[in-house]
Amino acid sequence: MQLPFAESYKIKMVETIKKSTREEREQWIKEAKYNLFNLKSEQVFVDLLTDSGTGAMSDKQWSELMLGDESYAGASSYYKMKTAIKDILGFDYFLPTHQGRAAENVLFSVLVKEGMVVPGNSHFDTTKGHIEFRKASAIDCTIDEAFDTTAHHDFKGNVDLNKLEKVLMSYPLEKIPMIIMTVTNNSAGGQPVSMQNLRDVYTMSRKYGVRVVFDSARFAENAYFIKQREAAYADKSIKEIVKEMFSYADAMTMSSKKDAIVNMGGFIGFKDEDLFKQASVFGIIFEGYITYGGMSGRDMNALAQGLYEGTEFDTLDSRIKQVAFLGQRLKDFGVPSQEPFGGHAIFVDVKRFLPHVPKEEFPAQTLAIELYLEAGVRAVEIGAILADRDPVTRENRYPELELLRLAIPRRTYTNNHMEYVAAALGNVYARRNDIKRGVKIIKEAPIMRHFTVELERL
Ligand SMILES: *Cc1c(COP(=O)(O)O)cnc(C)c1O
Repeated sequence: MQLPFAESYKIKMVETIKKSTREEREQWIKEAKYNLFNLKSEQVFVDLLTDSGTGAMSDKQWSELMLGDESYAGASSYYKMKTAIKDILGFDYFLPTHQGRAAENVLFSVLVKEGMVVPGNSHFDTTKGHIEFRKASAIDCTIDEAFDTTAHHDFKGNVDLNKLEKVLMSYPLEKIPMIIMTVTNNSAGGQPVSMQNLRDVYTMSRKYGVRVVFDSARFAENAYFIKQREAAYADKSIKEIVKEMFSYADAMTMSSKKDAIVNMGGFIGFKDEDLFKQASVFGIIFEGYITYGGMSGRDMNALAQGLYEGTEFDTLDSRIKQVAFLGQRLKDFGVPSQEPFGGHAIFVDVKRFLPHVPKEEFPAQTLAIELYLEAGVRAVEIGAILADRDPVTRENRYPELELLRLAIPRRTYTNNHMEYVAAALGNVYARRNDIKRGVKIIKEAPIMRHFTVELERL
């Protein structure tokens, strides 16, 4: 008999989580103004809000915390991180930052000016926020297949080279500070970008003289998919694949809260010393001195260790198989999701789940509320609320995909929790026709409104 799959770790410490009653949840979600970000974590049983900073560190990472060097300048922890970044990613220069968006803030302070355009594959919301905040625009060049959740494509995170070249030909090149490649493509459903596509984009970027920056939060998951799906890489190690991926980048921003499996942290990697020096000025103003940039020494140590662990095949295999396990269970209940299943999350296709709730009533948010009421499971809307208003017209933007994201923290929940979540959403699916109305916005912030929006049920 073929042996079943089993995780490549065992549990050393546990944390209690509590179930609640439907009556309690009715009360709490009302008090939270129907925004799941406003819930207290103790009001949640299984928390799939995000896989960012919510993973379980290993015994080795916890040990590294004790070895942290908290010297203001020149700490050994900085050099540990520098060595790991050179070893695994191949960048000679780097700046620590307190998280991914801080890396964007520092780098874009050098690169992005009013009136510029930044092409890429479905820019992440903070990335887009940092571009639009500087009165520049992000142009999405992702392949069309990414927007059809039923279309099969191994690399739905890919850039459409024709769309990209059109942008490169339509603007003066000094107005295009970079091309951003998001690996994996979070907004399209944690979908990977192929090595071929990374190589082709890089080749095109040399032709036009535009730099390529990787938004790298889930680079290791991306490498895993390349190994599984791109024939030429089946026999390469994850670390070899990662090295080649980053050979097609001039710089990178990293949220280490994802594939480096730490609770807080980030960095920027540079190949070019001059850009590193320019960014250092902003790093010092916004984050801290060059050798700690918003991070404690102990956290830099845990991050360095996390980069090694996060690029181990077995770590990735355990993780991505758990995500697929949830995806398959949901599919067994008939719940429609983006396929193939992504690396860090299952993205439920809400246009197919609640087709009768109008887009103006935010169906994905409506489903997030229903799932919470059903079972105390917290997921997140990736739809029109997240998409914000158009910065110029101030009209609501309705993205092609209206999704509910179930993000799985790394090494945190068991497959029994996944069974629980699947059954809960299966129950909501069974009574989907009774959900006739959605929600309306009562209050919203001018940018990145999803974190603080206040809603009312219709
Ligand atoms: C999380 C994330 C960011 C932002 O990182 P933070 O650490 O949350 O600030 C940027 N890009 C992508 C693709 C991400 O997933």
